[in-house]
Amino acid sequence: MLYGTLEAGGTKMVTGLINEKGEVLERASFPTETPEKTMPVLIDWFKERKPDALGIGTFGPADLDETSPTYGYITSTPKLDWRDYNLLGAFKEALGIPIGFDTDVNAAALGEATFGCMKGLSDGIYITIGTGVGVGVLTNGKLLHGMLHPEAGHILLRQNPIDRFEGNCPYHRNCFEGLAAGPAIEKRYGKSAKELKDIPEVWELEAEYISQALVNYIMILSPKKIVLGGGVMHQEQLFPLVRKKTLDLLNRYINTKEIADIDNYIVPASLNDNQGILGCARLAELALNAR
Ligand code: ADP
Ligand code: ZN
Repeated sequence: MLYGTLEAGGTKMVTGLINEKGEVLERASFPTETPEKTMPVLIDWFKERKPDALGIGTFGPADLDETSPTYGYITSTPKLDWRDYNLLGAFKEALGIPIGFDTDVNAAALGEATFGCMKGLSDGIYITIGTGVGVGVLTNGKLLHGMLHPEAGHILLRQNPIDRFEGNCPYHRNCFEGLAAGPAIEKRYGKSAKELKDIPEVWELEAEYISQALVNYIMILSPKKIVLGGGVMHQEQLFPLVRKKTLDLLNRYINTKEIADIDNYIVPASLNDNQGILGCARLAELALNAR
């Protein structure tokens, strides 16, 4: 079997070809322009390679409800050209193969659950902290969709009084994403996040916001593991800070074996930034099996 994968992002579209063993045979990246310009390029790429099924992990919000008339559409994205665009339908019509469709972060969570550090777990979350913040939730062995899909990057946090940054989420200003995604760090300090590597207070504050969010996720979702990925989490010094602050905020209220082993509870993504593409391959496989 050959699986096509598409990680559909607001700035780039990454296509991939993966075999049954989870080996990445090929990968390509195309800028996200308008659907009229970008879609034919993507469709041709897959047509040439003839995968048996396709898995799409998309930016959102997207309609994941299979009973909805707009299932497979990108919905209220700020990327106006893609608003109300039938992404799944366009590929279905052009390729005529089974297609699995989910959000980018849900795909990454599925990648970690199938091939990575959440393998064998029924419940866990994958969080990406990059250009935005997104959370993919695995619950009872399935990806959580609910009414739409979780948008847990936009939860509201308590802002530290020393932090005068107004927050840069266009919808909520100082939500988690507005305070702690890469662009928020860069706007607050006027430098790229990489250049701030050696300034401890930057990462103390960042870890505080991440920890507040993790405590909320722990209380609501009861995950057995928390995986953190995305560009910002390449700052590895964040991990010990986040673990300690999360424990401080939990204040011994939750006493499970998982929390007792915090170094194996809050962990970095384990698949070398391939968690998204591998999750898309699994979405493709599931779509093929469901046929
Ligand atoms: P995307 O979210 O667009 O898929 P990334 O996860 O790489 O892509 O996120 C990009 C953001 O992550 C940038 O805005 C930048 O601020 C931040 N970033 C990227 N690399 C690093 C790094 N090594 N250290 C800190 N921040 C980084
Ligand atoms: Zn927000």
